[in-house]
Amino acid sequence: MTHRELNEYRRVLEAHRAELLAMLTPREEIHVQQVSDSLDQWQTAAAIDMAVSNLDRDSRRLREINAALRRIDDHSYGCCLHCEEDIGVKRLKALPWAAFCIACQQRRDQQQVRGHGPAFAYDEELSAAA
Ligand SMILES: [Zn+2]
Repeated sequence: MTHRELNEYRRVLEAHRAELLAMLTPREEIHVQQVSDSLDQWQTAAAIDMAVSNLDRDSRRLREINAALRRIDDHSYGCCLHCEEDIGVKRLKALPWAAFCIACQQRRDQQQVRGHGPAFAYDEELSAAA
């Protein structure tokens, strides 16, 4: 990958990161009000659940982006972390934070669905960076 291409990916990743940081910075806190109506209570609980799961997803994505930026710095960006093959331009353009080639990603997804299989070091790295 050329220097220019790397800079382009860095620019895209940093733009995504800025966007996520803006979303993750609480503009208004989640207020839990005392509500008498049980439907309101249910809706409040559902809204909090949704806010929390969005937060989980966004903060994971943020860690993925930070990890990708670190790989640009140490010149490993664009290589699959598992098999070390090139990830592929099409995939990187769609998912610039991708850490795995499509084949390895699919294997990871299947292992996650089945709920077993070795956790790749990448997950530990992401958790450590949290
Ligand atoms: Zn791979």
